[in-house]
Amino acid sequence: MDYVVGIDIGTTSTKAVLYTLQGDIKGYSNQLYPLYQDTPDMAEEDPDEIFNATVTALTEVVKNADGRVRAVSFSTQQHSLVGLDADHKPLTRVITWADNRSEKQATELGKNGQGLKIYNKTGLPIHPMGPVYKLLWLKKDESQLFNQTKYWVGIKEYVLWRFFHQLKEETSMAATTGLMNIFKMDWDEDILKFVGITRDQLPELVEPTSQLTGLEPKLADQIGIPADTPFVMGATDGALAEIGLGAIGKGEVAVTIGTSGAVRTFIDKPQLDPKGRTYCYPVMDGKWIVGGPVNNGGIVFRWVRDNLFAPEKETAKLLDMDPYDLLTDIAKKIPAGSDGLIFHPFLGGERAPIWNGNARGSFFGLTRTHTRAHMVRAALEGVVFNLYTVQLALQEAVGEPTLITATGGFARSALWRQMLADIFEHPVTIPEAFESGCLGAMTLALISIGEADDMSVVKKFIGKQNTYQPDPTNFKNYRDLLPIYLSVGRKLEGEYDDIAEYQRQHPHPSEE
Ligand code: ADP
Repeated sequence: MDYVVGIDIGTTSTKAVLYTLQGDIKGYSNQLYPLYQDTPDMAEEDPDEIFNATVTALTEVVKNADGRVRAVSFSTQQHSLVGLDADHKPLTRVITWADNRSEKQATELGKNGQGLKIYNKTGLPIHPMGPVYKLLWLKKDESQLFNQTKYWVGIKEYVLWRFFHQLKEETSMAATTGLMNIFKMDWDEDILKFVGITRDQLPELVEPTSQLTGLEPKLADQIGIPADTPFVMGATDGALAEIGLGAIGKGEVAVTIGTSGAVRTFIDKPQLDPKGRTYCYPVMDGKWIVGGPVNNGGIVFRWVRDNLFAPEKETAKLLDMDPYDLLTDIAKKIPAGSDGLIFHPFLGGERAPIWNGNARGSFFGLTRTHTRAHMVRAALEGVVFNLYTVQLALQEAVGEPTLITATGGFARSALWRQMLADIFEHPVTIPEAFESGCLGAMTLALISIGEADDMSVVKKFIGKQNTYQPDPTNFKNYRDLLPIYLSVGRKLEGEYDDIAEYQRQHPHPSEE
């Protein structure tokens, strides 16, 4: 029997799945690592901890292969930055997408028009998550480190260096740095000059389906695969999750609500947003991905659970129930639209569609008749309203969706699934997908080794799907509420800066 391994290097863990060429799952491993947050703005990981997790995950799944592993391929977290010395040893930890320390640089370039120029060449919205902004911050605040650094890479490039001693980066990942010109498919000389680095400090650019061979023999032995096993470069976790959900056709939109969230779709040519609200980057075979990531997905429900319903969390424990299920039962009793209570879910600033790190959450419309039950329902609705506004921005660029697929932890709640269909006024299909990023990586591997012609092969691997139809009485309520949701958000824009500044001046004890 032949096998392929799909690996997903995520923010909390690295997962590996062993597949047969027919898409059957024969092994799974999930290796966690810590996120270092010494200050509220920092979000770093250790490159060697991630490398070790990758080796362990791969070793564990390979144990289940009673035949040949034909290829290994990678889905990876986006926007990470690692500085290496001349011997390719890390000089920094992995500065992840969640790190906010280049906020000043992003804001400044957003205001002076440079940020939009970068967006128009790279498809990367103006945000501190982008390595281009991180480099500008390091150049200013850590100039010695900046000048010492010989190479700048992302976490996948470092992991692959440890495996192969080759410094290569595929174009989907490179596009998410804000340093690659997506129209020329090459590092952008003007941006590099502006940042103060040169092309020889960056990896060589290759296609996502290209292969690396010549695995370090010691590692090959340790993992239990031949040293000539090809590793396929892979692509971003966003693009591969999209493929793994089977949302690959024109107008097929995938919505994710995990801890964070996203709305994405594939298109046939690059499409930028005049307001810079959506990202766009190349994947493969003339397919591009366009979409918007949101910070405030399931994490909002977690906040409601822990901060508004702490006693119920205890009750749920006694009842041997998942607290989220108990809260869903409470929210279910309130009508759609929460009797006019609106929640803006910006608890952690927001990326798409408003791209405002200073945005903050708010309840609007409270009356004496509103209860905590209204607040939990409004919070769930607010998360979906926000994602719907991303979908509206996307729609301006690529037209109406033909299919909406959804995934993530939110799908465990029937109420939340239905809300998505109602607020989007569109049927929503939820596949019983398992680790869609790994499945996407596996699909790319099959194409790379010639076992599949294109990504449509993934349709054969996707299990059962359920579809939820919008409920006409619910969507009428939401449709009436949406304009108010939008206009309140717009009116608060200036106040977001003020309240965020106040909070910085008066930090919560846990943030000092
Ligand atoms: P991640 O994004 O870290 O991979 P998940 O996709 O598992 O995580 O999503 C986690 C989120 O899913 C939680 O923050 C919570 O909002 C939501 N969630 C988990 N279980 C339930 C449930 N039973 N009902 C509703 N939402 C849930």
